[in-house]
Amino acid sequence: MNVGERFSTFVDPGVDLHPAITRLTGIRDEDLRGAPPPAIALGQLAAFIGPAAVVGHNVGFDLAFLQAAGLPAPDRLDTVELASMLMPSAPTYALQSLAAAAGITPDAAHRALADAITCAGVLADLAARARVLPIAVLEEALAYAPLLGPAFVAFFAEAASGAVRGAWDDVALARPTEAMAPSPPSAAIAVDVAFAHDGPLSRGLEGFEERTEQRELARAIELTMRDGGPLVAEAGTGVGKSLAYLVPALARAGEGERVIVSTHTLPLQDQLMRKDLPAVQGALGTRVPVTVLKGRTNYLCPRRWQQFRGLAQTREEARLALKTLIWRLSTTTGDRSELNLLGAESDLWPRISADDETCDARRCARVAGGCYLQRAREDAARSGIVVTNHALLLQDARMRGALLPAAEHLVVDEAHRLEEVATDAFGITFDDRVVRRALDRVAHAPAVTAGLRDERVEEAERIRQEVASAQARASEVFAALAAVLEPGALEDRRRVTGGLRASDERWLPVELAGERFVEAVAGVGTAAERLLLRTTDEDERTDLESAASELSYLRSAVTRAIHTPRQSDIVWLERRQEGDMVLRVAPSHLGEAIRRGLVEPRRSTVFTSATLAVAGSFAFATDRFGIADLADARAFGSPFDYATQAILVVPNDGALPGSPEFADEAAATISDIGHALEGRTLVLFTAHGSMRDVASRLGPLEETGITVLTQGIDGSRRALLERFAKGRTVLLGTQSFWEGIDLPGEMLECVVIARLPFAVPDDPLVQGRSERYEDPFREFHLPQAALRLRQGFGRLIRTKTDRGAVVLLDRRVLLRDYGGELLASLPDARVRRVPMTEVATTVAQFVGRG
Ligand code: SF4
Repeated sequence: MNVGERFSTFVDPGVDLHPAITRLTGIRDEDLRGAPPPAIALGQLAAFIGPAAVVGHNVGFDLAFLQAAGLPAPDRLDTVELASMLMPSAPTYALQSLAAAAGITPDAAHRALADAITCAGVLADLAARARVLPIAVLEEALAYAPLLGPAFVAFFAEAASGAVRGAWDDVALARPTEAMAPSPPSAAIAVDVAFAHDGPLSRGLEGFEERTEQRELARAIELTMRDGGPLVAEAGTGVGKSLAYLVPALARAGEGERVIVSTHTLPLQDQLMRKDLPAVQGALGTRVPVTVLKGRTNYLCPRRWQQFRGLAQTREEARLALKTLIWRLSTTTGDRSELNLLGAESDLWPRISADDETCDARRCARVAGGCYLQRAREDAARSGIVVTNHALLLQDARMRGALLPAAEHLVVDEAHRLEEVATDAFGITFDDRVVRRALDRVAHAPAVTAGLRDERVEEAERIRQEVASAQARASEVFAALAAVLEPGALEDRRRVTGGLRASDERWLPVELAGERFVEAVAGVGTAAERLLLRTTDEDERTDLESAASELSYLRSAVTRAIHTPRQSDIVWLERRQEGDMVLRVAPSHLGEAIRRGLVEPRRSTVFTSATLAVAGSFAFATDRFGIADLADARAFGSPFDYATQAILVVPNDGALPGSPEFADEAAATISDIGHALEGRTLVLFTAHGSMRDVASRLGPLEETGITVLTQGIDGSRRALLERFAKGRTVLLGTQSFWEGIDLPGEMLECVVIARLPFAVPDDPLVQGRSERYEDPFREFHLPQAALRLRQGFGRLIRTKTDRGAVVLLDRRVLLRDYGGELLASLPDARVRRVPMTEVATTVAQFVGRG
């Protein structure tokens, strides 16, 4: 690539630079001495640009500043937008990453001219990618380009002129290389054989270690699958529970049966599909067909996508249409997770995803390239093991098995998260997003869009008006709901009790607004029916009918939440941090639904997790799964020797959480630990407020060269963990950091738990659920806190050679009578009670840094 004329200048802003700017950019006041003032520099830049288009990376951001300062609006070409269309599956569109993908080594990062030259190189690479696209794709790109701007038209016209016409006359869509064929059952491998000393796993599985607990767990699962019934199995950290259930699951699949494995998190699902299952099948010599099945909205619907493409009217619609057009050349799954959707594209995705249960494989049989969802379902129906997630599993339960193939066996991994997901699956969420989504589906239904252009214009226009009116009525509902909450705190929750409904005068306006909304939605439905009478196109009819049925669900949801709640419902309002309102309904107990939907339809069901028992009892877990009377529940220990690998340090003096001195004392102790261990410390909080309070007092620690990272302030969870793993860091986090973090070895040597993790008692859901118990504290709050505490503790020891300390700064665990039960729930580490001033040295000595 040849770089032509260059222009670069500093600008003297006329004021001293803020130290933060100097830290960020390395530019100092002396660098700016003699530089032109803004007005002069802007004139020079405008002259340099002339009539040309400005190319830049996220260029709208920079141009907004320049235009505010008086630069005339130039035509622009954004390399982020271009890359997002031409490289739809790139994990990131950061300039440095795109440069690396193009084989460009930038001169120096974060200097404007170097970045501009890198950007030019990226543009050249994108142009080269565009030129090898099929001509049919480029011609369609040219049709969208006017919505993106003249520079995009020029870009795609140039690419099309260079494309080899005729070479790709039939645009080929990617297809799976090998259709999944039903394979004959392979020989079932018994657990004792598979796990035997010098058996197939030990010979064929890299890194395999014999673990008694793992083999016992695998045996218990094998027996449960043979004899039937539910098993609740707690597998301590390090047991390797995936392997323990995959071996018997593969054996059952080898016998021609089917096993569904459900996980809560995507990383575990990925690990099972990409790593564990291929490795175990390789070691055992089995060839069981395995499929991952996600919720239908994860898949591109080719039929709806075709309609969407023809109707693109905005910049984002054009971008998404072209991006998915290019993606379809390479994807074999149509799975959204392969796409990197930017900004508003995520909001548009529901218009092109498989979206409802009215889709009919026969009707769509001839859709170009086939239907991804149907293909995934057909693969699942031919598979011996189907990996899915709790959300789809529970949705399937709610829809009585309409989404997943029938299976003899079910393994629920990460079972401690099941109730939380069931709360969403069996509950209701009514917020502006849900309303907008349902109404938009009607307004954008192809019958309406097409109707606006033909003789059905009157009915189509009527729908648009009714939709606008329903949207306005929804706003009234949300305004009335907001009035029910006390003014003040931005984030707020309030339970809607019978008392509130009967005696709070602010509730009546909610009911009236709710009635008007329900009427308005019914008006949309009536208008939709009129349009349907005049619509003959089968596809248009189906889409409008399905959009209308979503509205009908919305009506019944509002009626249930506002007007006629069920006896067993917990209803509450929330004001989110962003200020918008949400009305939620959750059943007070989900055990019955879980039993009926998950356990009863299958011969065996295994619930497993690292944290299910409380002080040796499974009563809490089995009640939640609805199987207190049925389940065989057992703990399978941990191969780690907690008594020698870990200590639990609790201060025996100092402030209690909630007291004014607590934050100061906690920060001082965390500083001392972070200093002594040179970082390597994870601090877990139960609330953002107290986390920020402590974080604000850790400046002195940072001055010693230890980085302090705080969740919600210093980046995403993933970015924080990556930075933490590099060392010399103390990381502060709340809820999501209590589990799913795996930092083995010296990366993490101390976990500080600031406060016992009792749920907030006046949280509406907690309040409603605890009412089921005679002694809510002992039967509900305490077990919940014990499980959470164990999850936090579980972050510390990840391998047999790890060594570390958990520091529990909340000494109520020593003072209160419930403390014994909490301590009895924790792994068997020695407990050290020491003065607060000795906590850090105790930890440092134990890990060998004292
Ligand atoms: S069956 Fe038809 S409507 Fe359903 S997802 Fe597939 S293509 Fe779309």
